[in-house]
Amino acid sequence: MKPNFRRCLSCQKVGLKQEFWRVVRVDGVIKLDDGMGRSAYICPNLQCLEKAQKKNRLGRSLRIAINPEIYETLKSRL
Ligand SMILES: [Zn+2]
Repeated sequence: MKPNFRRCLSCQKVGLKQEFWRVVRVDGVIKLDDGMGRSAYICPNLQCLEKAQKKNRLGRSLRIAINPEIYETLKSRL
């Protein structure tokens, strides 16, 4: 994949980095948007968000338990 392209972990859509929300694990803590660490990308829509939550896609991708607050925060951005 080209450097600026990323894939949504829910629907597998490929797009430019800035088209997605970025979730990143920094020192064992989940952060949104910024930070250096293992990161995952997700489309900014409810469908992908709910799928990610239901199937624990974020948790598996980042290998850490995801606090439901993370999903709530993302949902509040919709
Ligand atoms: Zn998606």
